[in-house]
Amino acid sequence: MAKAEPLKAAVNTPEALAAKEKRARTEAELIIIGNGMACQRLLAELVQQPNRPARIVVFGAEAKPAYNRVLLSSLLSNELPDSAAELVSPDWYARHNIELICDDAVVLIERERKLVISQHGRYCRYQQLVLACGALPLTPTYATDSKGNLQPDICHFRNWQGFSHIAPGRPAATTCSSGRWWFSGAGSRRGPAKIGHAGKLAAARCLLTKPPA
Ligand SMILES: Cc1cc2nc3c(=O)[nH]c(=O)nc-3n(C[C@H](O)[C@H](O)[C@H](O)COP(=O)(O)OP(=O)(O)OC[C@H]3O[C@@H](n4cnc5c(N)ncnc54)[C@H](O)[C@@H]3O)c2cc1C
Repeated sequence: MAKAEPLKAAVNTPEALAAKEKRARTEAELIIIGNGMACQRLLAELVQQPNRPARIVVFGAEAKPAYNRVLLSSLLSNELPDSAAELVSPDWYARHNIELICDDAVVLIERERKLVISQHGRYCRYQQLVLACGALPLTPTYATDSKGNLQPDICHFRNWQGFSHIAPGRPAATTCSSGRWWFSGAGSRRGPAKIGHAGKLAAARCLLTKPPA
């Protein structure tokens, strides 16, 4: 079980092994890792097929179901309400008998056993596996400190979490010391990995000024 090394503490005892085996009996015809736009498009095609996989399980690392990521800029500039980014209604997955697991990234794939293991300890076997994980933002070295942490006032603007982090008025919003957020990630017309001003990305109205003290 060398591949399960990251979960060593959980697999070393007989009880843990037995529990793992029991959980691994959960088997899906299809597992999709990543609940982004590509995943949603694939699902939309699949549910129209008469011979679609009977049991489809989707693991998403984000806290909410797939949304239109391209519209994040418009949400940030308040041009559109959050609901505009919804790709499907909240009950869509259940109606199509698709098991969506949010906020639980897959951390290990045991290809020999056709088994995936998630961050929160879910074990699920598959017959077919699709990786729809998207890409991580590139971070220029000058955007990070010596430990690799983002410099103050620089953030990734790639997903809902990043959006909630910089959008004013959100419960998770944080302020920045310089009064302006800079972003690193996609969304720039000049390509990913650029750092630019959030206001340029979305719209002039989106200039994120320092809240009054
Ligand atoms: C602000 C912004 C604006 C953009 N504008 C445009 C545009 O105008 N035109 C354009 O063509 N493109 C645009 N893009 C890019 C476009 O959004 C991406 O190309 C597209 O979302 C890629 O889709 P995807 O499904 O492959 O990946 P993603 O949409 O990134 O989805 C991948 C998902 O997989 C999840 N994931 C990753 N690893 C795991 C794991 N181990 N377990 C579980 N889940 C995992 C991620 O959290 C993510 O939710 C923009 C992107 C951003 C952020």
